[in-house]
Amino acid sequence: MASYDVIIIGAGPGGYVSAIRCAQLGLKTAIVEGRETLGGTCLNVGCIPSKALLNATHHLHEAEHNFAAMGLKGKSPSVDWKQMKAYKDDVVGQNTGGVEFLMKKNKIDWLKGWASIPAVGKVKVGEETHDAKNIVVASGSVPTSLPGVEVDNDGGIVVDSTGALELPKVPKKLVVIGAGVIGLELGSVYARLGSEVTVVEFMDFITPGMDADVQRTFKKLLEKQGLKFVLGAAVSGVEASKTKAKVNYKLKKDDSEHTLDADAVLVATGRKPFTDGLGLAELGVAFTPRGQIQTDAHWATNVPGIYAIGDAIVGPMLAHKAEDEGMAVAEVLAGKHGHVNYDVIPGVVYTSPEVATVGKTEAQLKEEGRKFKIGKFSFMGNARAKAVFQGDGFVKLIADAETDRLLGAAIIGPGAGDLIHEICVGMEFGASAQDIALTCHAHPTYSEAVREAALACGDGPIHA
Ligand SMILES: Cc1cc2nc3c(=O)[nH]c(=O)nc-3n(C[C@H](O)[C@H](O)[C@H](O)COP(=O)(O)OP(=O)(O)OC[C@H]3O[C@@H](n4cnc5c(N)ncnc54)[C@H](O)[C@@H]3O)c2cc1C
Repeated sequence: MASYDVIIIGAGPGGYVSAIRCAQLGLKTAIVEGRETLGGTCLNVGCIPSKALLNATHHLHEAEHNFAAMGLKGKSPSVDWKQMKAYKDDVVGQNTGGVEFLMKKNKIDWLKGWASIPAVGKVKVGEETHDAKNIVVASGSVPTSLPGVEVDNDGGIVVDSTGALELPKVPKKLVVIGAGVIGLELGSVYARLGSEVTVVEFMDFITPGMDADVQRTFKKLLEKQGLKFVLGAAVSGVEASKTKAKVNYKLKKDDSEHTLDADAVLVATGRKPFTDGLGLAELGVAFTPRGQIQTDAHWATNVPGIYAIGDAIVGPMLAHKAEDEGMAVAEVLAGKHGHVNYDVIPGVVYTSPEVATVGKTEAQLKEEGRKFKIGKFSFMGNARAKAVFQGDGFVKLIADAETDRLLGAAIIGPGAGDLIHEICVGMEFGASAQDIALTCHAHPTYSEAVREAALACGDGPIHA
């Protein structure tokens, strides 16, 4: 048994980042992780493996569709799916190994096994119970399913996102249930690998919650890449055999019933907080009706000495949100002032083109009754984007109608996931659209499209 200032439960991006910051701030720190490797959902079965597959298949798409136009002739590469998965596993291994190195470097003890909290100030791992002045729960989330849909990742036919990263072969027909970020990213991967991909979504639009302009353009661009969409459809069940599946759904508009045949089905209907086995309810820790751990503005639960962060609490289920909370709660525990600005948390979809958003949408501002203006610029007017066949898409900035202060942005186009951070920094500093417009942007870069959108909030863009 050992005694710590802080024990963090869960070594995902929330937990391991928090552990590093705690150690940097002089707190004796341990982290508990039940998986074989560190890094949580994100590094093992989330952000990182999915981006590796998106990268590999993006290159395949380029070779098949754009190389010849650039004078690069010859046979397109063929897909060795086993090798592609090995590449993905290698990327995961490098990253999880990197986190293990960081734990050692910062003298953080990794307590291996599944933790429970038998009493305030105690963390049990296996047969050992450790003392902790403070406990941070960073236990993350797990995929959800639908009634009538049984996920069996080992079977490789009806799978969740974890199973979809490991399909034994590229399915001829893939049905994706859910048009959220995870469903579309993995759907894109398989579409590029040659699967016939149909996405079935309950809402009448894709990527719920996102800017409506982006939703429409994004759907059109994905359709151009071969993805099919069935919107406004409630899946009532999936019948699976050892080799195939049938997805039954009802269209909301007329209650008509339909069936899709599939070689594999990806259930991407969302995720829920994972807090099983921790013993939180027994200690009286309060939960929201959606099963999230309830915390205050300092990530404290209602039980003194127990804090929570990341996917296990309220807010967007994103790695960088978890990381920010991890650093902030460490500051709080070290007697400093941890802070997370929840108004400036970007969201990115790593398809091609990428999609990135931050701040308020038009719909939200209309609901709030706030007056705003829009500056929009198409990537068709951006020389660099056209050179890489990515003129589709746009940058859209939203600024306050009177003060010109940036309120939000939505970008669909090349490098959107990086471009969005110029707006994030601007928003953090209370920048106006004019501040962006007056900043010299290097030519030729995609970022010029951001500047042009800022100019569009004022006297007008140059290249439109
Ligand atoms: C396919 C996919 C793609 C994604 N892509 C992105 C992306 O591109 N960008 C992005 O920002 N987000 C992405 N996400 C979401 C991101 O992975 C999560 O938001 C993030 O991992 C949450 O971090 P966390 O630290 O809260 O929890 P997690 O990463 O879920 O980590 C929690 C860890 O706690 C451990 N644990 C739980 N209970 C215990 C216990 N009792 N004892 C010991 N250990 C325990 C778990 O084993 C797990 O390793 C993706 C998710 C998926 C599934």
